[in-house]
Amino acid sequence: MTAALHAAKAGADVCVVDSRPVPGAKMLLSGGGRCNILPLSVDAQLYATSSSPNTLRKILQSWRLDDVRGFLENTIGLRLVEQKRTGKLFPATGGGEDVRDRFLAALRRSKVRLLTNTKVIDILPNERRRVAVESGPGIVAAQVVVATGGLSYARTGSDGFGFRVATSLGHHVVPPYPALVALRNGRFEHTALAGIAVPVRLEVGDGRAKRVAVGDFLFTHRGYSGPVVLNMAHHVTRGLALGEHLPVRVAWLDRSESDWTEALAGSRGTVRGTLKEALPDRLVDRLLEELGLWDATLSSLRREDRARLLQALVAYELPWVDCGGYREAEATGGGVPLGEVDPKTLRSRIVPCVHFCGEVLDAVGPSGGYNFLWAFVTGRLAGEGAALARGG
Ligand SMILES: Cc1cc2nc3c(=O)[nH]c(=O)nc-3n(C[C@H](O)[C@H](O)[C@H](O)COP(=O)(O)OP(=O)(O)OC[C@H]3O[C@@H](n4cnc5c(N)ncnc54)[C@H](O)[C@@H]3O)c2cc1C
Repeated sequence: MTAALHAAKAGADVCVVDSRPVPGAKMLLSGGGRCNILPLSVDAQLYATSSSPNTLRKILQSWRLDDVRGFLENTIGLRLVEQKRTGKLFPATGGGEDVRDRFLAALRRSKVRLLTNTKVIDILPNERRRVAVESGPGIVAAQVVVATGGLSYARTGSDGFGFRVATSLGHHVVPPYPALVALRNGRFEHTALAGIAVPVRLEVGDGRAKRVAVGDFLFTHRGYSGPVVLNMAHHVTRGLALGEHLPVRVAWLDRSESDWTEALAGSRGTVRGTLKEALPDRLVDRLLEELGLWDATLSSLRREDRARLLQALVAYELPWVDCGGYREAEATGGGVPLGEVDPKTLRSRIVPCVHFCGEVLDAVGPSGGYNFLWAFVTGRLAGEGAALARGG
């Protein structure tokens, strides 16, 4: 919709084609219905891509956050409120449905035609009717902007068509992987920890490839979630797509070994009692059960047991077995490589009548409005680029 609005503003005759009865279904789901539409600040390093991070940064910088906000306020007509504590921006009233409706109204004002319940099945660059649809004749288009999303939440319309068509057009699509997704637990006993939330430092991988983040961790009935897990999951799932099982290690409370050594040294009773002063009871019981230190007292703790205990406190290896998959993943990583599009117009370097924008491109951000930001910024570039290119 952002691409369409910008193409229309640049003078193009625009038609939005969508397989769903109404486009923008994800806006209704986002931010628990409230629609976390933007972050309050941008850090390009928080995005994951297999393409050049420099290209990603340049694309992001093409539209300043303040100007994106101005577009939402002035063109779309949203009133936005800042949530300083979480660094997020929300609509002041109405939530996702209102955001979606205002986008649709802006399309109407810009005289953009909307063709819904129309599934695109192919793009045929050598035909005049380039956009082949499931039923009926193809659609005549000088330029086609592919804004079909990834594979997440297929019921909202994004079923991976964009990846398939990009591949058939000759692009070397980076294999997609679920992002912003919970991990499944491989130890039945951890199910009993469901509901426990604790701040942690999370490490994914080893050596130079290790990634670290701090945030809230949540045990669920099926595994591990919470903001820090969701935001780090793409490292795990990208590894999975390559056949790797990366270790995920947790430092409870984001404490270091020396923090815990100090806490244990200043205490005389049982290990359990001391740990329970800092950590949730059920978690402490579970850790000590796994370590076989159920009844241990601090004074009787052998050296090797103390080392194992510290390891479990600062580098506990999560027994994860899988991730929640695309049905649960709020975004999809991988996609059309940024090097295969012109970063200024997002025009395909392989098929000049095609542009790409949004999640179909090889970039995915953390939660917090980063993925809508990417959709808006790339939508504007692709829309303006397509309008510019329509002459030839
Ligand atoms: C549950 C959930 C919560 C989220 N919360 C947030 C959040 O709070 N903040 C944030 O920034 N991001 C959030 N996201 C991510 C964000 O919604 C997406 O990154 C963003 O919507 C991607 O925009 P897009 O236009 O590229 O693709 P999409 O929004 O997926 O739109 C793709 C459109 O293409 C249409 N389409 C696909 N294939 C075809 C076809 N063959 N023919 C015709 N039409 C087709 C679909 O019907 C759909 O309308 C959330 C996602 C989910 C699933």
